[in-house]
Amino acid sequence: MSGSKLKAPRGTFDVLGEQAAARSALEARARTVLEGAGYERIETPVFEATELFSRGVGESTDIVRKEMFTFEDAGGRSLTLRPEGTAPVCRAYVEHGMHKRRQPVKLWYLSSFFRHERAQAGRYRQFWQIGAEALGSEDPAVDAESIALLATVLALEGVRNVRLRLASLGSLQSRSEYRERLQAHLRAHAGSLSEDVRARIDLNPLRAFDSDHPGTQRVMESAPSLLDHLSAEDAGHFAEVRALLDLASVPYEVDPTLVRGLDYYTRTVFEFTSDALGAQSGVGGGGRYDGLVEQLGGKPTPGMGWAAGIERIMLAGGPPPAAGTSVELFIALESATAEQRRAAFKLLSDARSAGLTAQLDLGGRSLKGQLSNAGALGARFVAILGDGPATLKDVQGGEQAQMPVETVVHAVLRGHHAL
Ligand code: AMP
Repeated sequence: MSGSKLKAPRGTFDVLGEQAAARSALEARARTVLEGAGYERIETPVFEATELFSRGVGESTDIVRKEMFTFEDAGGRSLTLRPEGTAPVCRAYVEHGMHKRRQPVKLWYLSSFFRHERAQAGRYRQFWQIGAEALGSEDPAVDAESIALLATVLALEGVRNVRLRLASLGSLQSRSEYRERLQAHLRAHAGSLSEDVRARIDLNPLRAFDSDHPGTQRVMESAPSLLDHLSAEDAGHFAEVRALLDLASVPYEVDPTLVRGLDYYTRTVFEFTSDALGAQSGVGGGGRYDGLVEQLGGKPTPGMGWAAGIERIMLAGGPPPAAGTSVELFIALESATAEQRRAAFKLLSDARSAGLTAQLDLGGRSLKGQLSNAGALGARFVAILGDGPATLKDVQGGEQAQMPVETVVHAVLRGHHAL
């Protein structure tokens, strides 16, 4: 029975060929930066109890209100495909008693996340984020280090025209006092606000800063600024983060209107944007979340972290670095007799045991086809097996030599310089 062709769901995509290679290369570079700074890899489940996000990310946020892929399992439990990584990492920190480890505990991930958003360039329903979280220290140096690490990752990927915006939301206490002041301002100008913002004055007044509605934007110009209402302690923390970023030569702009769409942030918040991206200009961002671990049932534990979108980094990044030779030995067959195929397979496995990257043509091509395949793969050496001795060609140097099959691996190992 034949059927209509199936496609990947809207807002999702397959990762193929060069894209897959570019992602692996990005991951390797990011790993070097993050693990070099003491971050350990963490993997959390693709789905979690829905409550983790409703409690952690916040009921009033866009993510929880309308973007989660939520389903019930056969036992009637509500589960959700993870829309972000910070709440799961904090859940894992509590679940595994990581407060007993040396603090701060630094963790990084590269995982896929799911949000039911309007799909467009740079905005998908399944997307990948690289993220880093440091739990257990309030030190402003943690904030500055974390931000500087993301700046390094973006620079290594050649992300162009990056801007870093920075603000402080203060402690939960000063944030809630500020919230009331802002609500009063919004209520006093309710007539000029967009319907959406008006409807959310009680629930999430800070989101009014993100509105693109002209009337709302005018009202926000005269809104009280959170930065003017920080406690002395929070203001001191913010000043130190800025001073350390200056010392690390990470340029930034202080933007008092920066609010991030998640409820858990306290104190430092930041966002990197790139002009190379058009409408979806956010490349990565994060901040401090000093109340989140406690909110999820742990002991009061400060935290600081960020996430950056892999697809956006690649869209805004420079051309991918030229791939190095990834195939050191390509094995071709003059005629595919059973004997030659076996000899080729043995050579393949010997080459790999010796640490070479090797490929055998598996496509049933003519010798000419095999050689052009070797060329397309950028193979450094090609061994042609026939009934007599093998022929080993140095593709770059142009030399070639005949030798017993058993010595091909040695010749390749030696012959990185000369045959
Ligand atoms: P957020 O968790 O919303 O702060 O997002 C952090 C980063 O993840 C953003 O700056 C984007 O680079 C990326 N991101 C968020 N949502 C999406 C999406 N729907 N599609 C692709 N990338 C996304």
